[in-house]
Amino acid sequence: MSSAVAIFGGTFDPPHFGHLRAASEAAEKLAVEDFRLVPAGRPPHRQGSWASPEDRLEMLRAAVRPWSDLQVDDREIHRPGPSYMVDTLDSIRREVGESPILLALGQDAANQLHRWHEWHRLIDLAHLVIMTRPHSRPRYSGALADLVAQRRTRSKAALFKQPAGLVCRIEVTRLAISSTDIRRQIANGGNPRFLLPQSVVGYIRERGLYEERPGQDE
Ligand code: ATP
Ligand code: MG
Repeated sequence: MSSAVAIFGGTFDPPHFGHLRAASEAAEKLAVEDFRLVPAGRPPHRQGSWASPEDRLEMLRAAVRPWSDLQVDDREIHRPGPSYMVDTLDSIRREVGESPILLALGQDAANQLHRWHEWHRLIDLAHLVIMTRPHSRPRYSGALADLVAQRRTRSKAALFKQPAGLVCRIEVTRLAISSTDIRRQIANGGNPRFLLPQSVVGYIRERGLYEERPGQDE
């Protein structure tokens, strides 16, 4: 047991079993009790998200409702302006003092980390825990490649001996599920059951989310 906190950010538009299984396995493998899913408020790197921030928050809450060990942290939804992970980590760092913070992200997101706002500061604030994802191999460019090479550790225990600064990759069950694919299925009149919790499918149906076919996806 540790006082470490894990942060798993995303648009969760909608949340699906790829997210949830990865979160569950990461929490278990790292033995982190405080595991928080953080829906992005207004993601700066996307044209527009399909469901409102409030709907994405509600869907995520519905998804993890049966599981008290997975928390939803709504600070990005309620923070004005664009959602930057570095601001979220700053505010969590103020709360947890010197405890380790683990920033969990899928391999596709990790490959793009150099595009995140003030990305150099992320590693000062947290460890990076990179979770495997189908169709995404580790592919880092430039300064990000150097950083990953320098900070990489295979030791999970090392993550709990310092507050931030290391990069660790963990294997999770590879589920080839994406929100984009689910949105597309719904827009085409398909049924996305078994890709995401039924509670979320029910919420989507009730609100008629994702039924409009987007002109251009991202
Ligand atoms: P979209 O298709 O809209 O981009 P997504 O399925 O990629 O949605 P995001 O909300 O963008 O979901 O992802 C949030 C985080 O979850 C990212 O770090 C991403 O890498 C990770 N993630 C998403 N799906 C999976 C999956 N199937 N397996 C492992 N990690 C995943
Ligand atoms: Mg994505």
